[in-house]
Amino acid sequence: MNRTTSRLAEPLHRVVGKRTGDALAKIGPQTVGDLLRHYPRRYNEPGRLTDLGDLPAGENVTVIARTKSVTIKPSGGKVNFILTAVITDGRRDLDLTFFGKHRGILAHREHALRPGRVGMFTGTVGEFRGKPKLTHPNYQFLEDEEETSRALERQSWPTPIYPASSALPSWHIGAAVQTVLDTLTEDELPDPVPASVRAARGLPTLLEALRLVHEPRTAADWRAGQHRLRYEEAFVLQAALAQRRAEAQAQPATARPGRPGGILDAFDARLPFTLTDGQREVGETLAAELARTWPMQRMLQGEVGSGKTVVALRAMLQVVDAGGQAALLAPTEVLAAQHARSITRMLGPLAEAGMLGGDANGTRVTLLTGSLPAAARRKALLAAASGEAGIVIGTHALLSEGVQLADLGLVVVDEQHRFGVEQRDALRAKAAHAPHLLVMTATPIPRTVAMTIFGDLEISTLREIPAGRSGVTTHLVPADKPAWLERVWQRTREQIDGGGRAYVVCPRITSADDDVEPGTDLAVDAAPDDGDGIPGTSAGADATSGDAAPTTSSGPSRPAPARQLAAVDEVAQILRSVPALAGLRVGELHGRLPAEEKEASMAAFAAGDVPVLVTTTVVEVGVDVPEASVMVILDADRFGLSQLHQLRGRIGRGARPGTCFAVTSAPPGSPAMTRLEAFAGTTDGFELAQVDLEQRREGDVLGAAQSGRGNSLRLLRVLVDADLIDEARADARALVTDDATLAGYPALARAIAEQLDPERAEFLERS
Ligand code: ADP
Ligand code: MG
Repeated sequence: MNRTTSRLAEPLHRVVGKRTGDALAKIGPQTVGDLLRHYPRRYNEPGRLTDLGDLPAGENVTVIARTKSVTIKPSGGKVNFILTAVITDGRRDLDLTFFGKHRGILAHREHALRPGRVGMFTGTVGEFRGKPKLTHPNYQFLEDEEETSRALERQSWPTPIYPASSALPSWHIGAAVQTVLDTLTEDELPDPVPASVRAARGLPTLLEALRLVHEPRTAADWRAGQHRLRYEEAFVLQAALAQRRAEAQAQPATARPGRPGGILDAFDARLPFTLTDGQREVGETLAAELARTWPMQRMLQGEVGSGKTVVALRAMLQVVDAGGQAALLAPTEVLAAQHARSITRMLGPLAEAGMLGGDANGTRVTLLTGSLPAAARRKALLAAASGEAGIVIGTHALLSEGVQLADLGLVVVDEQHRFGVEQRDALRAKAAHAPHLLVMTATPIPRTVAMTIFGDLEISTLREIPAGRSGVTTHLVPADKPAWLERVWQRTREQIDGGGRAYVVCPRITSADDDVEPGTDLAVDAAPDDGDGIPGTSAGADATSGDAAPTTSSGPSRPAPARQLAAVDEVAQILRSVPALAGLRVGELHGRLPAEEKEASMAAFAAGDVPVLVTTTVVEVGVDVPEASVMVILDADRFGLSQLHQLRGRIGRGARPGTCFAVTSAPPGSPAMTRLEAFAGTTDGFELAQVDLEQRREGDVLGAAQSGRGNSLRLLRVLVDADLIDEARADARALVTDDATLAGYPALARAIAEQLDPERAEFLERS
């Protein structure tokens, strides 16, 4: 360990003493480095020097005056002694009062405030019998001219207010920080932001910035200091991501160029629709990147229903044309099975290689999930290992279960929520020749958040919805109006009679306590006493075990809601006797059903045999039944915004216009109602994502792991600091392009290592 690191790693008690050191450790900082990063929470404007003749009640004032008299008297109240000191400016007097349990406690004040001393007194102006007074003011005596002018100067500075405790008040922390800052030199404080970047952006050094935030002379000081520290956070993060990106690009990959006259051309020829401009453009990008000898690292984000699957499938077919295989990973078994079905259908004879009537250019599609019966699984494993299957579809577990693929050329990850940086790294590490990677997400993410979380990926966006979609109209339905609800079921009936299908979505599986579908994004703000946020958008079920994970709780325990939330089993039962739905079969779907029942349920719904499907959020992700035109969301206020948007994306996918009914008992003006109004007001996922993020606390944006000690973003605000993140990203990429190992930037390399060590790396992953 060199001198530099040892200085920052120095335990605090060695610098500020054991008592203060222990008290600091209780609220967080343990080392010199920690304390320097214990930033003030806010700043008090400098209290202005106030004239004794003008003391506005309730305001924080500072006065310079001379002590005139001091007395201690017993008091009648619950405090036993009261000290009153009178101070004066020569013309007017002001009372100061201090209370104490016994006379002795007040003795040192009595001595300090003895008549004839000049001091500076700071406190909040109170009133007693019409006269202003200060209770328990702070004071500092000014013995000579020099001290007076120093005090006057200090008095004009903003006061940093630190996150503190009752044992360790803010000013005490401030004093400890001063002690540390006073003895620190530039070379003891290596700056992760290189001098060249600082010069280009006009930023102060790290030590300067820390002085600006801890010892500001003006408000402009601490603002400049904060700006620089925010920049640093963005820069270190972006440099880390740029390095990952560079490392990925440095790996060899097999080029998978297209082959004219191959399966992709044959597929394009049988496509029943024309690609949208966006689909074609992204398709060209992917085609070019697959043909390179380093791995593609791309994220495709697109509005729900924008047709990402076709884009991905065309990329997969290009890889098949080049002799390789493609794996498609879905977050749940339901979704994997559905992908297998719809891709097989889209490919038609092209998916029947080696079979009678199969196309000469064809390949095979294999579904490989944990719940396959042993024989089917053996067959699927063989098809994957032999290379017979050009397309292998499964859950994310597919890659971790030691499944062999003959020649994996491309991995497509659908609905990426749970596919974090580590999995991406693991994937790259798996093969000598890394597969190309395409990550797809339907949850629109504001660009800056995407840059922060997926900065190692290039991003393509599909904004266009294919023509011929009729869109969705959303209505809010008050739960306490039975007539409205009746009307909802009538409308549902009309739709079904016209060939449509209806989803009825519930937050719970059964009426048993806490029986919530895993991954359901229950909004906490509907519960009493907890109005400050929505938990993260954890979509879908457990990524590694398919959607049958037996966990039932989706977060910390919360007060039980007064009313039971709608449950699949109960609602299905009720709907079977709703007059408007008489004669219609009502199906059930949730994550705890065995895989084959889930499959059967979805199939019966898709075929129209069971046109009403009561379901949990299992249908949220990617389920595609073009005839589905009605969605009734019960207890809609209990779902997070992006989850609502995902749910609604399940209808209006065909020629049939969709109608969504969000049933709610949220009171007007509540955060939940605000969310639902935004939901009903637009179908633009990007707009909703913005509203969603604005409603959250900042820390939730990047996931729960942000809030622990490993939190490396202290000042950076992902939404507000968009431009700054942009700049940092450009700078970081330029630097890493120049010096991929950062050998010339040891302070930056160390900051990255500190930030991204294994236990801290989680924060990059959207939980
Ligand atoms: P998402 O982007 O939400 O995953 P999908 O890929 O599931 O959307 O596509 C939704 C539906 O739109 C599918 O039935 C698909 O066949 C259809 N589709 C995709 N592209 C087009 C297009 N260009 N024109 C018409 N329909 C399309
Ligand atoms: Mg999809």
